[in-house]
Amino acid sequence: MQSGPQPADFADVRATNLAVVLRHVRTHAPCSRADIAAATGLNKATVSSLVADLIERRLLRETGLAEHRIGRPATMLVLDGQPYAAIGMEVAADHLTAVAVDLAGEQLLTWRRAFTGTETGAGKAVSTIAALASRAASRVSAQGRQVLGVTVGVPGLVDADGAVRLAAGLGWRDVELRADLVRALRDPKYDVAVDNDANLSALAEHRYGAYAGTANLVYLTGEIGIGAGVVVDGRLLRGGRGFSGEIGHLQLDPAGPQCPCGRTGCLEALAGVRAIIQRVLPDAEVDGPVTDFAPEIDEVVRRARRADPATLAALTAVGRHLGHGVSIVANLVNPDVVVLGGNFVPLAPWLLPAAEAELATRAVAPDAGGCRLVASALGPGAAATGGAARALAAVDAGHLPPLPT
Ligand SMILES: [Zn+2]
Repeated sequence: MQSGPQPADFADVRATNLAVVLRHVRTHAPCSRADIAAATGLNKATVSSLVADLIERRLLRETGLAEHRIGRPATMLVLDGQPYAAIGMEVAADHLTAVAVDLAGEQLLTWRRAFTGTETGAGKAVSTIAALASRAASRVSAQGRQVLGVTVGVPGLVDADGAVRLAAGLGWRDVELRADLVRALRDPKYDVAVDNDANLSALAEHRYGAYAGTANLVYLTGEIGIGAGVVVDGRLLRGGRGFSGEIGHLQLDPAGPQCPCGRTGCLEALAGVRAIIQRVLPDAEVDGPVTDFAPEIDEVVRRARRADPATLAALTAVGRHLGHGVSIVANLVNPDVVVLGGNFVPLAPWLLPAAEAELATRAVAPDAGGCRLVASALGPGAAATGGAARALAAVDAGHLPPLPT
């Protein structure tokens, strides 16, 4: 049996130290090598070597000399990262979103395309997703940036290999999405990943949202389904096979309406976007199933603004169901904040009062355990933004991209 540190341990230590240096510069820039050493406890030679690596990869750059300091003027460092971008995509029942974000958090592109993933079957959907990913990667490369990764968010059960085991809202079962995308993109140099859309949205909120950095945060998607991305103690809660957060299929009312999952009275069947449209606009589906919800949601908002009594009553009922669902999560994981996303955002002014009241009634802890219920301020495509954040987070953790060629 071998003893002592193994090569993997050295790599881990170096990644950790790189992450420490990056984090210090992010919060304290401009700063000198000596500042970093003093603040982090790393010795100066180590800091010089780490900084050299980061400058070589253009994650840091030098910027002039600091004046008005005691002793020799020092070369100051700031974040660079501009040569890198990550791409995130979101697959919803009625649209695809692609975003590219650089390490400084700047959105380089945001594309939204109509998408009929439910009608065309998974095979056609995969080529549509791959085509959009490829165009986004080409655009980013043409701007002189290296693509770190493409991460696709899907509303469904996604396993550790990036296979979609079940996405009821898309009508998908056992779609090997990651493997299919790698093939369609012809084994790209960048990392390709697939994750649950709620998980990625929670990552986006945790990195960029109004409650960024909140240690215990839950994000609820408001697309065709309702999924929860759960961050506990600063880490995404995935569960054994990656299938956690299926809040949409909590059965709130056994006598409730039929859910696409085959059960009855699920949160999704009571408070999902289809349920909202059916309650407020019962005639919306006379021309066949609604495949793009945006016009209907706009109409619901218009009616609510006019204080149409039937609309207000429907949204209050939906808000109560949401509050009921959130109270179960609040009782289980005691989040500091629950963020409503997707189609819930424009409806939030009418959903939140009833949801908050229901949460307060059903939460066991006083004051709902401190749980705040808010609407996301990230705008549409939070899962896509989170997909980009995933690859950027790997760099933050000290896993450096290969040297630019
Ligand atoms: Zn269900």
